[in-house]
Amino acid sequence: MADMLKYQFYFLICTMLFSEIVGQKEIKQQLIQTVVEQRVSHARLFLGPEGSGSLALALAYAQYISCENSSPEDSCGVCASCRKYSRLIHPDLHFSYPFFAKNKDETSLNYIQEWREAFLKNPYLNLDEWRHQLDAENKQANINIAECHQIIRKLSLKPFESEYKVLIMWLPEYLDKEGNTLLKVIEEPPQKTLFLLVAQNQDQILNTILSRTQLMKINRLSDEEVKHHLIDRMQVPELQASRIAYLSEGNLQMALQLSKEDNGNAFGDFTAWLRNSFANNMIALIDFSDAASKWGRENQKNFLRYGTKLLREVMMELSGADNLIHLPPNEKEFVDKFSRIATLAQTEALINEVEKAHYHIERNANAKILFLDVSLQFTRILKFKTLPKGTHYIYQ
Ligand SMILES: [Zn+2]
Repeated sequence: MADMLKYQFYFLICTMLFSEIVGQKEIKQQLIQTVVEQRVSHARLFLGPEGSGSLALALAYAQYISCENSSPEDSCGVCASCRKYSRLIHPDLHFSYPFFAKNKDETSLNYIQEWREAFLKNPYLNLDEWRHQLDAENKQANINIAECHQIIRKLSLKPFESEYKVLIMWLPEYLDKEGNTLLKVIEEPPQKTLFLLVAQNQDQILNTILSRTQLMKINRLSDEEVKHHLIDRMQVPELQASRIAYLSEGNLQMALQLSKEDNGNAFGDFTAWLRNSFANNMIALIDFSDAASKWGRENQKNFLRYGTKLLREVMMELSGADNLIHLPPNEKEFVDKFSRIATLAQTEALINEVEKAHYHIERNANAKILFLDVSLQFTRILKFKTLPKGTHYIYQ
């Protein structure tokens, strides 16, 4: 429980300084440079994959522009403007984000309190987490026409306290077609107005909007950056941090999620599962299915995702790709050994089973039956170890 509190409230204590954001050194420098050289573009699109920190960067940028005492490296963090930014209550800072309108007149302002809470809890949040915050798990999110009109109204006001007023739009992918209503205000914004759009999928953004913004591409974080954040800031033990970083592929949101949920022994459990399947040890397989069925859905999904990733490394090894350098030591040793006893076709068939299981878990399958069924498939696949390389398994 203490751990959960530590994770959930970690970000509440910090303002959004550039120095608080994981990695992205070059992007931070470029952003600061635009302010120093007075080249602040009135419409900028931060395009980065989930968990790369693009939303946090957009906010840090806005805070930096508004800071009353900024240095060439960062905002001061303590001036009146920074203090208001740290609670997302600066009168010249506006947000727009997808929401779940109960009627056509609703705008994102109806959910600003939830937005502040969700963002301050985790500036790396994704749409799932935002849905969860709104108790809107299965609903369709969008940025509706009423919201577009509201944005135009808001931006027609003069700045209250800062030189600029800023609108940060998170996930413009969710703008309705009516998003074109915003074109004029993006192209010729009222004076001292900044549009910062934060997106993940370039091809889902209205082209008309895309062509009117200056694109800033943000890369995923490296495994090392994620790992060090987990160790230094979240007190995750090193080995577990390596494993989570490896699994989350640069997505800090996923890494934070996994550090809350990780059962801590994905490697041990998954390799034991394969070993017992290989040995056709039915008692152990039944015990395992029983235990795994009690983990909870999210842990089960993470475990299966981990398994897929581990087996993909085996495939890479079998295909002759020299990829083992970046693996944590236990995984490296396993991949090395397993690729000596399994063929490419077998490994492919195993991955196929694990992916199918993930699909079914997501759709509420009975976990105990499912894990046992996968165990039987594993046993069947691994039995024919002399199958020539390149032969494919055929399933009923
Ligand atoms: Zn400041």
